[in-house]
Amino acid sequence: MIVFERAPAKINLSLDVLGKRDDGFHEVEMVMTSIDLADRIELMSSDDNVIHVAADNQYVPNDERNLAYKAALAFKNKYQINKGIRIKITKNIPVSAGLGGGSSDAAAVLRGLNKLWSVGADKRELALIGSSIGSDVPFCVYGTTAIGTGHGEKIQELPAPPPFLVILAKPNIGISTRNIFPKVIMEEITHPDINEVMTALWEKDFSRLAAAAGNALESVTFSLFPSVGLIKEKMLKAGADGVLMSGSGPTMVGLVQHYSKAKRIYNGLRGFCDEVFVVQLLDRR
Ligand code: ATP
Repeated sequence: MIVFERAPAKINLSLDVLGKRDDGFHEVEMVMTSIDLADRIELMSSDDNVIHVAADNQYVPNDERNLAYKAALAFKNKYQINKGIRIKITKNIPVSAGLGGGSSDAAAVLRGLNKLWSVGADKRELALIGSSIGSDVPFCVYGTTAIGTGHGEKIQELPAPPPFLVILAKPNIGISTRNIFPKVIMEEITHPDINEVMTALWEKDFSRLAAAAGNALESVTFSLFPSVGLIKEKMLKAGADGVLMSGSGPTMVGLVQHYSKAKRIYNGLRGFCDEVFVVQLLDRR
């Protein structure tokens, strides 16, 4: 039997850094939602008790470093399953982009193995396994719209956003979150109004949401990679209703209500950016 799972990318609607904890991790608060840009995961059970990963992207490892591999191992250990698994990953989400591609692949493996091996775990249980793999994995298990606290792994679901279009623009650089957080100087960051973002979600008010969307890591990433800040400027000049960076970047996210505007911004960025997409939200509850 083969199970297929979609692994959607996530974007931030808000990301705040609250402080540094004694264990070295930063305390964050972030609102995230899933978008209609997804990797494809194929899972096939085998009798050899070996985890095998094949991803079609040169920047993604095909061994125990792959988050999908880690998810399969954690799942097998948790439920004491002595079977093997062949995982095929078709990457559509840009790598090291702030879009949670690896975390979403891991979450899709947890959901898929739960079906393939008829384990019957609920989302809460899968999210708990996911938190041992990476802070964004629990959100990806839910895949709706949520606020993540702690280092992002404590998830509380929020209402679905009002409908809008998302423009993603990624310059030709990869950024690892691990390299950005150590450069955060608490006194120098600008905190977004996360309560305003949550109120906008509860009230399904797009204008309020677009105005309040923001990311405290922007100044850190922009000072290291000025081209990322330039993309934000370009999107705003072209009339985006809101613009923020996703995760630690480098992908910039433009929020717009109307397709004609999305198309104009897309056309304006294509020559300037490596990868540009216009996508819809996934959470249509
Ligand atoms: P982070 O902010 O944690 O770096 P990201 O969302 O910006 O995450 P990802 O595309 O998840 O970026 O990749 C981050 C790193 O994880 C890359 O170095 C990549 O090689 C590694 N990685 C491991 N497994 C995967 C996977 N299944 N898909 C993509 N990258 C993976």
